Amino acid sequence: MPTLNAAKQVSDRINRIEVSATLAVVNEASKLRAKGIDLVDFGAGEPFFPTPRHIKDAAIDAIEKNFTKYTAVAGIPELRQAIVDRHRADFGSDYSPLEVVASTGGKLALFDAIQVLVDHGDEVIIPVPYWVSFKDIVQYAGGVCVYLPTDEAAGFQLTAEMVAGAITPRTRAIILNSPGNPSGAVFPPQEIEAIVRLAHERGIYVIVDECYVYLAYEGKPFSAGSLTKYKEHIVVVGSLSKTYSMTGWRMGYSMSPEPIAKAIGKLQSQMTSSSNHIVQKAAVAALNGPQDCVQEMKREYMALREIAMQGICDIAAVSCYRPAGAFYIYPRIEKYFGKGGIKTAAELAHRLLHEAHVVTIPGEGFGTDEHIRISYAVTREDLKEGLRRMKAYLESL
Ligand code: GLU
Repeated sequence: MPTLNAAKQVSDRINRIEVSATLAVVNEASKLRAKGIDLVDFGAGEPFFPTPRHIKDAAIDAIEKNFTKYTAVAGIPELRQAIVDRHRADFGSDYSPLEVVASTGGKLALFDAIQVLVDHGDEVIIPVPYWVSFKDIVQYAGGVCVYLPTDEAAGFQLTAEMVAGAITPRTRAIILNSPGNPSGAVFPPQEIEAIVRLAHERGIYVIVDECYVYLAYEGKPFSAGSLTKYKEHIVVVGSLSKTYSMTGWRMGYSMSPEPIAKAIGKLQSQMTSSSNHIVQKAAVAALNGPQDCVQEMKREYMALREIAMQGICDIAAVSCYRPAGAFYIYPRIEKYFGKGGIKTAAELAHRLLHEAHVVTIPGEGFGTDEHIRISYAVTREDLKEGLRRMKAYLESL
């Protein structure tokens, strides 16, 4: 009997990627929960708020009215219109519905954009720390990740000068994520503009992941999508997950020049077809409906940031950048390496999970070895309790 060579069981393409570091932790945590263990979950970043009532009602109404069929791959016209209208009103962008593709989550919108733009050997500049999936999605496309470290002491900022130093003749794209996950850093509009201008001049695409764009705490939120004169090199990727507390609904979108949008639609036509019809109807209600829920949630995240910063800085030997947006803190924990047999952030997060019953994500998945990520999009009680457990555990090592 011929034996299967394990290495040949699956494609080289799939062997180039790893399971999402965030979702791996979600799986591990749910196993512990199934055993009855009471965990405080700072893991996958998702708002604890229920989805606002009017959005849920729109979904229920969509079911009742039988909006339960296939739709155009890129989404129903009213959704594509609602996406461009909302973006224009909030950021001053100028997209047409033909430049929009609605996707099953922001992650798919990003995946689509990268598969459409990146060929084998193309380089993609990824500022570090980065969201876990950027690297794997680029590698799946056959691209080469060019990591561009940012300096924590300088607030994890990215400058056009730094980007210029990373560009080579093979550079195809750069991924910009502001407010950033996991750092919470927000890049000033003028710096984003300088980076986009530079990319435009060099014929490089800027893939803008703006999942947290409404969660910039100071000043008016800014989208690179508003830089209309450079539009030909900009792909905006957005999500309703964080803005409207809709993580499980899976609704994201991209806005890009029409040939790219068409290619994204073609890819999606062979993958998911359209996103869920019911969710599309709910998304229209979210985008066209009252926006006070967005501001209310942001205000709570800002209050939670204070509790998070106070709690984390109260733990001996831990230091932490104060985030300017999103809902993560990214504390440095490397002073605990060497204590209690812990050598890495992954080991520390593992021990926190199994021994302190607090879920965190180790920094390795985000490209740095000295940090863990904490999502503070949880209730105040949970935040305080989780930080209390962390302090007690770490200081006892
Ligand atoms: N924003 C979430 C996080 O980074 C997404 C989870 C994921 O899909 O990886 O935790």
